[in-house]
Amino acid sequence: MIIDTHTHTFPDRIATRALAGMEKSIVDNHGWDVKIKVAGTRDALSESTKKNGVDISVVVPVATKPEQSVSINEFAAHTNEKTKETGVFSLGAIHPDNEDYKDILDDIKKKGLKGIKVHPDYQKVEFDDPRYLRIFKYADELGLVIVTHAGEDIGFPEKIHCTPDMVLNVLNKVNPKKLVLAHMGGWNLWDEVEEKLVGKNVYFDTAFSFEKGIPHLEKEQFLRIVEKHGADKILFATDSPWSDQGYTLERLKEFGMSEEALNLILGENAKKLFEF
Ligand SMILES: [Zn+2]
Repeated sequence: MIIDTHTHTFPDRIATRALAGMEKSIVDNHGWDVKIKVAGTRDALSESTKKNGVDISVVVPVATKPEQSVSINEFAAHTNEKTKETGVFSLGAIHPDNEDYKDILDDIKKKGLKGIKVHPDYQKVEFDDPRYLRIFKYADELGLVIVTHAGEDIGFPEKIHCTPDMVLNVLNKVNPKKLVLAHMGGWNLWDEVEEKLVGKNVYFDTAFSFEKGIPHLEKEQFLRIVEKHGADKILFATDSPWSDQGYTLERLKEFGMSEEALNLILGENAKKLFEF
C-alpha cells in the first residue's frame, strides 16, 4: 500500500491564480524557478494518484484566516465521501486564533477527518505559542493526528515559525502521541533536525525534500536520519503539486533501503497512524 501523506489542492476557480502567485513569491524571494508539477486541483491530484500507483493521497489544508476553518472542514468531508473513487482524502484545518477550537476539533473528529494541519508560517504564530499548545492538547485527547509545516517555507524565508527548538518545547509541554513534522523535521534545517529531533516521539514526512536546484536532503543524510530515527517513524509524502509523486517515489526506491523499511515508509506507517 502506498500513501502520500502530504498533498495540497485548491478550489478549481482559484487554483491557477493562487499557485502562480506562490511561484512568483518563490522567484522574488530566492530567484528559484520552482514550478508546480500538476494543476493543483482535486481532479489533477486524483489523476496523479492513480497514474503513480498511489492508493491514497492525503490533502493537508491550511486555514490562513480563522474564519476559513469551518468551510475547509465542510469541503474536506465532501472530498472524503468520494475517496474510494478518487484516492483523495482530506484532513481538517484549524487556525490558532479560533477561540472555539474545541468545537472545531470536535467537529473534525465527528466528520472522521482523522487529523489537522497547521502551518505556523502562513498562520504567523510560533509553533510553541500557547494558542497552538491548547489545540495540540485537545487534538491529542481526541486521538487526532497533528501535521505541521516545519523549517523554512520557501514562500516566507524571512522568519521560521517552526524550528527544532520550538518542537522540543511542544514535546516538553504537550507531547502529542501523533505529531508529524513535514519536510523531514524541518526544511533546510536538516543538520539541526539530526542533532535535536532524531529519536524523539515524532514522525517526519518526506515532502519536498529531494528537489533538485534548491536546498535538498542528500541521500547519505536521509539514510542516516532514517537509520537513527527509525523507519517506523518516516512517512512518504510529496507536497504535490510542488513535487511530482512519481519522482519522489523513484527517489525513495533508488536510495537502497531494505524492502521492509521501504514498505513501512511508503504506506504501512501511514496506514497505522491514520487508521486507513
Ligand atoms: Zn506542504
